[in-house]
Amino acid sequence: MQTLTTPPMLIPPMRPESLGVPLIDLKCQHQPIQHKIERAIQSVIQAEDFILGRALIDFEIAFAHASGSHYGVGVGSGTDAIALGLRACGIGQGDEVIVPANTFVATLIGVLQTGATPVLVDCDPNTALIDLMAAEKAITANTRAIVPVHLYGQMVSPRQLLDLAGTYDLLIFEDAAQSHLAEREGYRAGSVGLAAAFSFYPSKNLGALGDGGMVLTQEPHIAETMRSLRNYGAARKYHHIEFGVNSRLDTLQAAVLGVKLPYLPEWNSDRQRVAQHYQTLLAPLAGVGIVPMQNVSGTGHVYHLYVVRVTDDCAIDRSRLQVELETKGIQTGIHYPTPCHLQPAFQHLGYQLGDFPHTEQLCRQVLSLPMYPGLSDVQLHRVAATLATSLNLPLRPICADSVLFSN
Ligand SMILES: *Cc1c(COP(=O)(O)O)cnc(C)c1O
Repeated sequence: MQTLTTPPMLIPPMRPESLGVPLIDLKCQHQPIQHKIERAIQSVIQAEDFILGRALIDFEIAFAHASGSHYGVGVGSGTDAIALGLRACGIGQGDEVIVPANTFVATLIGVLQTGATPVLVDCDPNTALIDLMAAEKAITANTRAIVPVHLYGQMVSPRQLLDLAGTYDLLIFEDAAQSHLAEREGYRAGSVGLAAAFSFYPSKNLGALGDGGMVLTQEPHIAETMRSLRNYGAARKYHHIEFGVNSRLDTLQAAVLGVKLPYLPEWNSDRQRVAQHYQTLLAPLAGVGIVPMQNVSGTGHVYHLYVVRVTDDCAIDRSRLQVELETKGIQTGIHYPTPCHLQPAFQHLGYQLGDFPHTEQLCRQVLSLPMYPGLSDVQLHRVAATLATSLNLPLRPICADSVLFSN
């Protein structure tokens, strides 16, 4: 009788990604509601209602209402929302617009597209938000507007903004691309200024399945101008009163966003849960140079990103730390590695290295840790534990899926 010998079982080497934690994971959001999303898409296809359709109008109303504003006008991207929104507010050539140096380049691109001159100012190194004292010093006779960026999900102080704008007769245009439903001092993001821009880029707190954006405003005449600007500058069909563009939020994308919007408060509080855990787990690392950005807005911070600083006295430099984490399957990001004023595209603005020391320092130090609704406790403990081991800190396990630092 022939004996069958089973070949020795090959144990596959442990793949780092099997223990991996991505920076962002959209599956947790989409899987439970995929059938609803598909149904919403089907109904737009059936109605052949692709441009400025019913689902867009419904979503504009719903999102404006959720954000404590009156009118919503959907556009093709967050960048277009800034550019067209500022134009609808009357900003253009000859105007100076105050912008934080510490932001994503789209803020600056939006301002430049209006023909206005962006005037950059430094940030507060603890929050990464615009420094309003620096903003005040930058005001001239030509300053018309300030564009606060509610960065990483945290709002710039509405009270201080309104004070400054009131004193110097500036209009406030919020860049709320990272702060859907964020709150501070009783205000929601997008309800502080004359108008505000949102982005629905897929990884934002509320994301489409592609590009999208919206302008919110309390003013009917600004909403009306926006509706014309995004639609070839036509107040009504074939009647063009302004030099407009083609930038409408697709009805298909609006239908998807309309399905997702009711879940946003839940998703934002899940981000806050993750942030709170990080806060506790990372507290012992402050002494060795890993310092989380400050939350100065309490429960209103919606944590688009969870950002720490790798300070200059940290035993390991940021790029080495990032590689070390990557090899252990922990994905991180840098928001942002090069400040706007040092990007080759904006050299003509005349800024140079040293102009905004806090912004420049943050660009060298910031590191974004995995953050998304659905990130499990096991995963975030793994991130914290991997950070600690990369810094050669001893770990004391307290139970199967969690770990404490001993210091
Ligand atoms: C994402 C983002 C934008 C641009 O939005 P898009 O939809 O990508 O054009 C603008 N400002 C900030 C702060 C952003 O994070």
